[in-house]
Amino acid sequence: MLEIKDLHASVDGKIILKGINLTINPGEVHAIMGPNGAGKSTLSAVLAGNDGYEVTQGSITFEGKDLLEMEVEERARAGLLMGFQYPVEIPGVKNVYLLKAALNAQREARGEEEIPAPEFMKLIREKLAYMKMDNSFLQRAVNEGFSGGEKKRNEILQMLVLQPRLALLDEIDSGLDVDAMKVVAEGVNSLRGADRGILMVTHYQRLLDHIVPDVVHVLVDGRVVKSGDKSLALDVEERGYDWLTEGSVA
Ligand code: ADP
Ligand code: MG
Ligand code: MG
Repeated sequence: MLEIKDLHASVDGKIILKGINLTINPGEVHAIMGPNGAGKSTLSAVLAGNDGYEVTQGSITFEGKDLLEMEVEERARAGLLMGFQYPVEIPGVKNVYLLKAALNAQREARGEEEIPAPEFMKLIREKLAYMKMDNSFLQRAVNEGFSGGEKKRNEILQMLVLQPRLALLDEIDSGLDVDAMKVVAEGVNSLRGADRGILMVTHYQRLLDHIVPDVVHVLVDGRVVKSGDKSLALDVEERGYDWLTEGSVA
């Protein structure tokens, strides 16, 4: 589904990613851990196609296509969806409007008709209930005045409505209390499926108690220094990151 090879990327002329190799197969959940400034968010941003990130070497293939040749919109239409570490507020735009517009854009790209209003409302109510969100969320401006936890729920709500092929989640646990984290984790778990890939970035192991990853990668200074199963996350929790780079040539 996703194949990253020898990816190098820079921001403002500063090299951040220094040769990332990573393959995600359909159905897999991958977690990326790593210290602050390792390049985790940069990797997400490069995958999403955000401005300001320059790929200087390497390749990314998504479902057999060259992802780096695709515009941001094309990536979204192809089913790559990114949730944001700091979700943006869109004053004046109702949440329900954004969700419907995004869903219809996706359907249009697939040559499908717009979703009928009753069907949309049924879908959205079901997903809201799942995320333990009140119907009043729909009428509020996107993320405006939302608490941190509400924003994260909203992000997962979008994912549940749009059902991406590959979901990118950057620090969905940041700023959440334990109860909110469980709801968010349940939402992500319900996204798991044989056809879907999930790539999530997290600082903390605790999220991975709730969303158990198939593969864990540790990113340090722009490189994947170790990959393993979920036990790697526990090792990192216990020992930190230094032991993973000891003896390596800086
Ligand atoms: P992480 O998510 O692992 O904490 P980031 O990818 O956010 O790390 O950042 C990696 C490095 O790139 C940091 O040194 C950070 O300061 C730098 N960086 C990230 N984004 C930008 C930017 N837009 N402009 C300048 N430097 C950036
Ligand atoms: Mg950071
Ligand atoms: Mg980050």
